[in-house]
Amino acid sequence: MFYTCHYCGHLGTEATREDEHLYPASSGGTSTVSSCRPCNRQKGAKTQYAYAQWLLEHPEEMRPGVPYADSDRRPFVHRTLGVHV
Ligand SMILES: [Zn+2]
Repeated sequence: MFYTCHYCGHLGTEATREDEHLYPASSGGTSTVSSCRPCNRQKGAKTQYAYAQWLLEHPEEMRPGVPYADSDRRPFVHRTLGVHV
């Protein structure tokens, strides 16, 4: 089974998939998307909007290169904030 990371578009296998809360579970968020571990760790407890904003302010993190060389979070930022980066 494969999944596509909601944030970076990485195509991964079930073994690396994580359920990611669009809104932090600690705030009562229940809807989830599939995310790779690096994105999930980096997003932490931020909302997806706060995460997109954070990425805008840290453009080097949009293309971390580790561990997935093809990671690119620009489309996520564009989708979420409507900002071309
Ligand atoms: Zn990802």
